[in-house]
Amino acid sequence: MMIGMNSHIATRQVSAACPHDCPDTCAIKVTVEGQQIVRIQGDALHPPTHGALCTKVSRYAERLSHPERVLTPLRRVGPKGAGQFEPMTWDQALDEVARRLGAIAQRHPEAILPYSYAGTMGLVQGESMAARFFHRLGASLLNRTICASAGGEALLQTYGGKVGMHVEHFSESRLIVIWGSNAIASNLHFWTFAQAAKRAGAKLIAIDPRHTETAQKCHQHIALLPGTDGALALGLMHELIVNDWLDHDYLAQYVEGWPSLRERALAWPPERVAEVCGITAEEVRGLASPTLPTMPTSCCPPPCSLNTGTPTPATATPMPW
Ligand code: SF4
Repeated sequence: MMIGMNSHIATRQVSAACPHDCPDTCAIKVTVEGQQIVRIQGDALHPPTHGALCTKVSRYAERLSHPERVLTPLRRVGPKGAGQFEPMTWDQALDEVARRLGAIAQRHPEAILPYSYAGTMGLVQGESMAARFFHRLGASLLNRTICASAGGEALLQTYGGKVGMHVEHFSESRLIVIWGSNAIASNLHFWTFAQAAKRAGAKLIAIDPRHTETAQKCHQHIALLPGTDGALALGLMHELIVNDWLDHDYLAQYVEGWPSLRERALAWPPERVAEVCGITAEEVRGLASPTLPTMPTSCCPPPCSLNTGTPTPATATPMPW
């Protein structure tokens, strides 16, 4: 769409979609002057996002032409972390990488592990060219969902597909448990709907080792020790079992391995959970309690942390049991 002339330079607006690996899939309006992108805005007609972009993408136009943008390969010339680099040409960089990868590949190509995931979902940048190169080289294969394998598998096992709630539906919840996510920093569209639910009387509970800005704005913050939320989940199951707050029909029809899960959960009374998690037994009981507003309840797990580049908290370290 042509929207004007600025000193004889035509200005137009282009509709686009955010290329990042982010479930919010924002619709974008890009303003272009001549060949130059001058502004990036959310599209107000996109219902889940209401035209709000995360801070990372809303400043794309500025970053694109920023004088500090890195446009040439840089070679580290000092110790790691010292920030000492010198520029080199693309030919020099490619020769150097080819020489070093080639030497490893001659010995044993699987000693090379491509470690990457979806910075952008574009066909060229996202999934195609690097894979072809490394397959040809004979490099090791990596399960590329580095951050999401466990969550993805849980969704597959539970729902049969990697699907989640419509983000708009969070506004209808009466209880929202934000488990291991700093939603204000990394899941802003969810947070908008969580706020709508809160205004309508919903209770928000944050489970997070850190006292994040999101935790500060919830009604309750359970600040467990990093890496212990598996114990908390087992403790919740323990309470549901011993109090018989269970949907037996659902368990019978849809849950695989229920007897062994039940047995394992029964080994986690609130006192044991409290000791492992560094919280109180009452917090465990309270979280499972029927005195909380109940249906509809929703749980917000860590989203893709791409939104602002802010990492989600460290609740995913291996459990010692
Ligand atoms: S990365 Fe940002 S702009 Fe892109 S879809 Fe996610 S929230 Fe929207």
